[in-house]
Amino acid sequence: MSDKSTRRQFLQGCARAAGAAAVGAVALKLVKRADADKVWQLDPKLCSECGLCATRCVLKQSAVRAVNNFDECGYCRICPAYFDTTSEEKDDGTFTRLVCPRNAIRRKLVGKADPADPNNNYYEYTIDETRCNGCARCVERCQPNAGNGALHLQVRHDLCRDCNQCSIAAACPPAAFYRARLADAPAGYRRRGAAKKGAKA
Ligand code: SF4
Ligand code: SF4
Ligand code: SF4
Repeated sequence: MSDKSTRRQFLQGCARAAGAAAVGAVALKLVKRADADKVWQLDPKLCSECGLCATRCVLKQSAVRAVNNFDECGYCRICPAYFDTTSEEKDDGTFTRLVCPRNAIRRKLVGKADPADPNNNYYEYTIDETRCNGCARCVERCQPNAGNGALHLQVRHDLCRDCNQCSIAAACPPAAFYRARLADAPAGYRRRGAAKKGAKA
């Protein structure tokens, strides 16, 4: 074979490779565009509270947080997701240790205290999201029959990097992570001002 024909074959090969790469890039762009209005969601009904949400996220403090559904919360005085009920009991019936390892659950009396009967007192439990890392310990303790199942995990979309392949989704044992349009998420998924820029809420 002459030098001339070898060079021609080489140039033809390069042109084919460049063409294939260009087609691939366009295809990737189209895939990304088709998925652009979707976000990573977490289905609390499938979550088994395994704890991987706290450790598998690419962020140092995971984009997942515990959230209290106040419509389902019992406002319990002895909340099993707040107090570690296996720890030593105090004179007032509460417990010495708390469940949350990051001290991220706030407990506030609702209304006026009834000193005569502490069981008439109700408490609101809110999550300090600057501290919570979605470890799911409180969520696990809130499961029925101990609790009402009001606490659950959610991905905070204003924190999430929207990774092409979410590392939590790859590790999640019951496949509770999925891609969905933010607009189709249940109302509780969204918090005020948290919707991703440009996402239809
Ligand atoms: S990795 Fe999956 S099962 Fe584990 S806590 Fe997160 S959502 Fe729940
Ligand atoms: S998920 Fe973990 S860090 Fe967050 S409030 Fe519950 S126990 Fe605390
Ligand atoms: S997509 Fe990335 S940033 Fe978002 S929850 Fe998954 S791993 Fe974390």
